[in-house]
Amino acid sequence: MSTEAVAVSAVSEPQQHTPSAPAQANTVEKVNLLGMSRPQMEKFFEDIGEKKFRAGQVMKWIHQFFVTDFAEMTNISGKLREKLEKICEIKAPEVVHKNYSKDGTRKWVFRVGDGEGSLVETVLIPAEHRSGLRRTLCISSQVGCALDCSFCSTGKQGFQRDLTQAEIIGQLWMANYSYMEDVPVLERERSVTNVVMMGMGEPLLNYDAVLNSMRIMLDDFAYGMSKRRVTLSTSGVVPKIDQMVKDIDVALAISLHAPNDELRNELVPINKKYPLEQLIAACQRYIAKDGNESSRKHVTIEYVMLDGVNDHPEHAQQMIKLLKNLPSKINLIPFNPFPHAPYGRSSRNRIISFQKTLSDAGFVCTIRQTRGDDIDAACGQLVGQVADRTRRAEQWKKKIAQSNEIMRSQG
Ligand code: SAH
Ligand code: SF4
Repeated sequence: MSTEAVAVSAVSEPQQHTPSAPAQANTVEKVNLLGMSRPQMEKFFEDIGEKKFRAGQVMKWIHQFFVTDFAEMTNISGKLREKLEKICEIKAPEVVHKNYSKDGTRKWVFRVGDGEGSLVETVLIPAEHRSGLRRTLCISSQVGCALDCSFCSTGKQGFQRDLTQAEIIGQLWMANYSYMEDVPVLERERSVTNVVMMGMGEPLLNYDAVLNSMRIMLDDFAYGMSKRRVTLSTSGVVPKIDQMVKDIDVALAISLHAPNDELRNELVPINKKYPLEQLIAACQRYIAKDGNESSRKHVTIEYVMLDGVNDHPEHAQQMIKLLKNLPSKINLIPFNPFPHAPYGRSSRNRIISFQKTLSDAGFVCTIRQTRGDDIDAACGQLVGQVADRTRRAEQWKKKIAQSNEIMRSQG
């Protein structure tokens, strides 16, 4: 069970760092129900002497009607609501920046701690699809990332900490809520149709929290998403891919980025620990998992196009060999430059001819559209900008305070 689920009677110390707040001894730290999977919430209700079916009821209020106030949960008795209000809360992470683009893209930056680096971002991208409008949410799993891929701005920040379940599922909750804020509670609907665990961080290195969050995404008492509409993207933590195959059935994306070990060691350093042969074998085990379903199953291969680095015709030929026995769809990602990035984006022509080579060899190969440029790009870069702005705003505040001080002292 997550740490969020255990602190029912924890007593926190008076808040030393907020002198303006009245000192509160014996403040009860409330349990945040937002991030609990159904088994976790059932256990919670049993632990407080209630029936476990309450879990399903409360989950529906939280994840389908986007209610944070127990008073609005009308199928729960007043007595139980009062009890819950005393010991629990439903709390999404704090939004410090949001931006809704004209093309429908929405971006949020959440503060998940006190330090300057404690920011994560979430991006929603809409797209027309033959099955209707798709709203795909790109969710972060860690603050920063330890894996240090050479083209990734999140990697350049280093690793700060894992996100909790409430912080992970809170991103999905907030994106859905953003469409329903003004809609009466009982008329609210779930708007996000697809999730990709492709934001900041390596999801398989925050395994339990990510697994439980994905279970909430699939749960009919919560988001009820189909297992093909939840995708986990990994840079290739092989043992955890196998673990995931045992624990949950969702779509898998692999950040490949290089078709041979020498280049991949340089771009995606975890390749030194789990080289391509092992990674491709793990993908085969994922495909083999579901017997008769396997014909429909594939792995998405992500490949960031870096000018003059991994975009030569011979790299495309190596890809064809590497992937020839793996049911896969290839997604070419034009590189998103960020300050001091050591790479440039491959030219459009280069990307198209790379795609053509792979398509001619029989692969389904798409080029990712770059979207939402008017409110800036993806992959940790928005966080970088917000952090910069916050830092600059803090510096200005200090400067103004200093000059006020000087003016006062000069009379
Ligand atoms: N850690 C996981 C998921 C997060 S990264 C992983 O690596 O798969 C999500 C995707 O964005 C990955 O495919 C990653 O390689 C890609 N990416 C990172 N930095 C990028 C950049 N500057 N331009 C384009 N794609 C980038
Ligand atoms: Fe981490 Fe993924 Fe970025 Fe690599 S690409 S540093 S694994 S977030």
